[in-house]
Amino acid sequence: MYYDVLVVGAGPGGCMAARWLSSSGFKVALVEREKLPRDKPCGGFVSPQAAGLIEEAFGAVPSSCVVSQDVHGARLLCEKGGDYELPFPAPGFP
Ligand SMILES: Cc1cc2nc3c(=O)[nH]c(=O)nc-3n(C[C@H](O)[C@H](O)[C@H](O)COP(=O)(O)OP(=O)(O)OC[C@H]3O[C@@H](n4cnc5c(N)ncnc54)[C@H](O)[C@@H]3O)c2cc1C
Repeated sequence: MYYDVLVVGAGPGGCMAARWLSSSGFKVALVEREKLPRDKPCGGFVSPQAAGLIEEAFGAVPSSCVVSQDVHGARLLCEKGGDYELPFPAPGFP
């Protein structure tokens, strides 16, 4: 079988690349080595920027995937001492 593009890795980056390439008319194969859905480390939030990109590319996120409480930012605590507050410009969702 012939493809224009092979995207390796079906994480958020690969899925988005495959989606945009496909909607631009390329014949795309997306391959993933893990069984999906995969386990991954996660803080459990979707930022407003990511939510906007997801909706633009894939349509509205199903309400069954969204807990009603808004998320207004994130805090990263690093093992070697960093502590970073990341306020969101608009609410995200958990
Ligand atoms: C501890 C932690 C918590 C986080 N919490 C959040 C959060 O709460 N909210 C949020 O928005 N982001 C969070 N992130 C960030 C988020 O996980 C990353 O931004 C995102 O996963 C990056 O997507 P990606 O597609 O670039 O890479 P990845 O998600 O790493 O996807 C790459 C994919 O490629 C596959 N792959 C690799 N090599 C091959 C190969 N040779 N063949 C086939 N497949 C291959 C891998 O199996 C993987 O599925 C967190 C990250 C960490 C580390």
